[in-house]
Amino acid sequence: MKQLQYIIKDRESLDHSLSDIRRYYDENSFSGMLIHIYTEMNEKHKIDVTLEQIEKALPEAEYVGCSSNGNIVNGDFSGASFALIATFFESESTRIKVMQHKLTEDTRESASAALVKAVSENEWVKGVEILLTIRGMSLTGLCEGLSKVRPDVQIFGGGAFSVNINDDNACVFSGEGGFEEKGIVFTLMGGDDLHISTSFITGWKPLGSYLNVTDAEGSVLKELNGHPAYETYYKYLRIKNDENFFFHTLEFPFLYHDKGIDIMRAPTACTSDGALIMTSDLPKDSKVRLAYGDPWTVLQSTIEEAQGLVDFAPECISVFSCAGRRTFWGNDKVGNETEAYQKVAPTSGFYTSSEFLREGENVIQHNVTQVIAAMREGEPKRNAGISFGSTEKAFEGRVPMINRMASFIKATMEELEVMAITDGLTGLLNRGEIQRRISAAVKDDAIKDIYLIMMDLDNFKHVNDMYGHKEGDNVLIRLAGMMRETMVDMGDNCSCGRWGGEEFMIMAHSCDEEDANKHAEWIRSTMEKIHFEKAGTVTVSVGVTKVKKGETADQACMRVDKALYQSKAGGRNRVSRI
Ligand code: GH3
Ligand code: MG
Ligand code: MG
Repeated sequence: MKQLQYIIKDRESLDHSLSDIRRYYDENSFSGMLIHIYTEMNEKHKIDVTLEQIEKALPEAEYVGCSSNGNIVNGDFSGASFALIATFFESESTRIKVMQHKLTEDTRESASAALVKAVSENEWVKGVEILLTIRGMSLTGLCEGLSKVRPDVQIFGGGAFSVNINDDNACVFSGEGGFEEKGIVFTLMGGDDLHISTSFITGWKPLGSYLNVTDAEGSVLKELNGHPAYETYYKYLRIKNDENFFFHTLEFPFLYHDKGIDIMRAPTACTSDGALIMTSDLPKDSKVRLAYGDPWTVLQSTIEEAQGLVDFAPECISVFSCAGRRTFWGNDKVGNETEAYQKVAPTSGFYTSSEFLREGENVIQHNVTQVIAAMREGEPKRNAGISFGSTEKAFEGRVPMINRMASFIKATMEELEVMAITDGLTGLLNRGEIQRRISAAVKDDAIKDIYLIMMDLDNFKHVNDMYGHKEGDNVLIRLAGMMRETMVDMGDNCSCGRWGGEEFMIMAHSCDEEDANKHAEWIRSTMEKIHFEKAGTVTVSVGVTKVKKGETADQACMRVDKALYQSKAGGRNRVSRI
């Protein structure tokens, strides 16, 4: 696979690029070629003239394209309104098939059904690139339809856009269907030698606390925490409901977790009663948070992504990057987040209105992400020693204050998140968090053999009364230290929390009864051996129970409390099991 990329500024440079491609194609024995055109223009007649030229110069080429919010050529924002990318295939087995359909509320289902059928009839298909117009329409139905495509086929692509972010006009076009204002172009690609690797990155970070979607209908997000959804943007970011609403909110999408992955959703408009029109459905009862771009994280994730592609050794990389990212960085800096890919392979793409990527069977509509599709023909040819540099380089010289603020927010958010679940004195989980983890584990069918170990210090009031609160605290901290050692021993299968004043709880899972009893007995016997400076010996009583199939977290907690009570009633400093 080979690729030539051109920035087209005028008629002359178009002619030049087409004759260049013609010559290159004729001089080599390629098996086929695919042209991509990304353009900031939306005018039908200008695009038609260009397409005619392409057809005339390269009659054997398949071509596809769309309007965009800016184009990426050779791993950089091109700044020009027109980009032409020619991909040449070397293997006889590589095949391309282009399909184009109208895309409206009425044709969402038929368009995806046509693709499902075409893929099932063409066994050679390995991937499908989609270019589509999306503005003003929920594409949940389309995505569900696309999810029915044969599961081994990768699906990726981006939404057509306009150079003006507030402009709803967009178009797609191809040799199959010509110019279309509301349409979808599928490029089916495959064959034995074609290999495709897809992924997505965000780099955006959660901001502030969780908000509950208390009212939503399809892609209309009505209420968050019982208030009109719009108020969130005004309260935290002072974004007004005016003609720039979309522009301002694009950099602050909602982040939520669905089908095992983090998804960002940006509003496209706001109604007069404060409901937000989203690009795709945001189900009622989901929990969302605002998100913001952290420049360091964003760049670090693109470098890691590029490093991850080195072994795959792509021969070309397509990037479908959200227009919000272009707004976020500004034109002179946005190239920073695609340059790492260019070190791996020729990189092209465009700034989109939504990015699409299949994860498992589901085709997900993303916002504010980068979807990356890397391709090659045949076995990987080794890329020797690519140096990616560091994120620091991108911030050399004067760093804008907003970047400093973003890293301040990130550090503060991380601290707050830890504080919200941590007990201040002992550093263990607080009651709310350990309870939440127990409930989650009990409900999770994949987690087996859950044990609860509950502890309560013996005659602790006496310790406080006789030797002072400070000595009491020392004892609590010491017991917490032992629990932490248990946690080191059991790794991810163990959570420890402070249940109340001098009561503690351990939840351990995926272990056997002997293990659970051993840990309980170890804590009891170790405590007994410690000599505290003032208080001398302090003992602890322990209860142990196993969570039964089908019971609630509350039922299990009540039983372990009962076991603990038995230890107290039996004379303290002992372990009881129920
Ligand atoms: P028992 O053996 O029956 O458990 O007796 P106890 O004295 O331990 O029971 P009780 O629940 O009456 O006493 C708990 C004491 O724990 C009361 C309170 O002063 C003390 N306590 C609770 N939280 C803290 C804390 O954060 N620091 C200190 N030093 N003491 C605490
Ligand atoms: Mg006690
Ligand atoms: Mg107590």
